[in-house]
Amino acid sequence: MVVDPVCGATVDKTTSHVSDYQGQHYYFCSEDCKQEFEDDPERYVDWGGNTLFGSA
Ligand SMILES: [Zn+2]
Repeated sequence: MVVDPVCGATVDKTTSHVSDYQGQHYYFCSEDCKQEFEDDPERYVDWGGNTLFGSA
């Protein structure tokens, strides 16, 4: 299980809501969260690949 970097929900890696950013996969609970992330990924992931909810 991984954490949705936008809302902090726990997400299963089998979800179809996946985004690639800086060589990492990020998983989302919904298409809305994925869209928000893709609109402004730097808001959710810092230069070290860490999210607000821990490292990816
Ligand atoms: Zn979410």
